[in-house]
Amino acid sequence: MSDSKPISEVAIIGAGPIGIELAAALKRAGVSTLHFDTQQIGYTLSWWPRQTYFFSTTERIEIVGIPMPSMHQQRVTGEEYLAYLRGIVEALDLQINTYESVMGITRLDSSFELVTQSRAGERRYQARRVVFAIGDMHAPNLLHIPGEDLPHVTHYFDEPHAYFRKKLFIVGGRNSAVEAALRCWRAGADVTLSYRRAEFDPKSVKHFILPDLLAQIELGTITFLPETTPLEITPTQVILQRVDGSRFEQSADFVLLLTGFLGDMTLFERAGVTLEGESRAPVFDPHTMQTNIPGLYVAGTAAGGERKARYSYFIENCHVHVGRIVQHITGKWPEKLGTIPSRQYELPLEDIRAN
Ligand SMILES: Cc1cc2nc3c(=O)[nH]c(=O)nc-3n(C[C@H](O)[C@H](O)[C@H](O)COP(=O)(O)OP(=O)(O)OC[C@H]3O[C@@H](n4cnc5c(N)ncnc54)[C@H](O)[C@@H]3O)c2cc1C
Repeated sequence: MSDSKPISEVAIIGAGPIGIELAAALKRAGVSTLHFDTQQIGYTLSWWPRQTYFFSTTERIEIVGIPMPSMHQQRVTGEEYLAYLRGIVEALDLQINTYESVMGITRLDSSFELVTQSRAGERRYQARRVVFAIGDMHAPNLLHIPGEDLPHVTHYFDEPHAYFRKKLFIVGGRNSAVEAALRCWRAGADVTLSYRRAEFDPKSVKHFILPDLLAQIELGTITFLPETTPLEITPTQVILQRVDGSRFEQSADFVLLLTGFLGDMTLFERAGVTLEGESRAPVFDPHTMQTNIPGLYVAGTAAGGERKARYSYFIENCHVHVGRIVQHITGKWPEKLGTIPSRQYELPLEDIRAN
């Protein structure tokens, strides 16, 4: 195939915080981009439970040096951050093809061809380089038990009001489950929390909410079932197993399965990127974020792969991905990333894998 169509310098796939920061930094460097998101910008944040606060403080999630104003100088909610992202896109006039999914990528002689799908149909584009900033939360981590697909069961906690004066059974022991248990109990739900481990890992739960949960468990206002695994969900009950193999039932009006999310690595596979380890993380050069396919980079939480025992990539430690990619493409580290001096994000290389 020939490279005869007009070719953009960089195609960015994904308009989450890191894809947007990369687009902004490349625009400032005068590099032309094509940018796609399969949904609206910031899609991952748009399905967070309503009124969920970041654990990250604002200066760590600000992008390209643009401060995030707040009336209260505290952490912001997902909704507030989406408003901030919209403001960035407007202020910098970033062109993003939303509701257009990248379905496939083919390496040509000196560029890539991207095939996209939107309501208007299939389209083809060319770019010299491609960056995958597609995130790592594409689908819930299913338990694969009978009843998981019943209408009163969900993997997505939206808001607590629905559970007022109802028996709510929550499965999980990380941040999402703990936060949902507390919020729903405070909204008048009768909450039971089942976790497969004996104790909560303080590294997986926001430090300012774990003591609150432990206090409620001690008081008996939230029922905690440690070392239990759900085997089946019926319209009125959850059947559980203890570590000794014994079984028991718990009645439930609603069930929240907050057992984490998986990344979809299909696009990486289609592009020929090598995935390694149990997490099926893409192979990349940590100096440049370039994968084993020359000209194809990874940025943001997508670098963590499909499945993780614990999340290790967050917005705050992914700004540096933008810096490395921009430097590799333009020869220059971007002037601003976040709002703290961007060089502070340039971690010593030996720390990169740990982060
Ligand atoms: C409840 C909750 C609380 C959280 N709290 C924090 C926090 O406090 N701090 C923090 O840093 N992180 C937090 N996170 C995680 C946070 O959402 C991620 O760190 C952040 O969204 C990662 O940004 P990203 O740009 O790498 O990827 P994402 O934001 O996931 O963006 C990826 C984008 O790529 C798009 N996309 C995917 N596939 C394609 C395709 N084939 N074609 C086109 N577009 C595609 C998606 O639609 C999406 O918009 C939290 C997550 C949850 C669920």
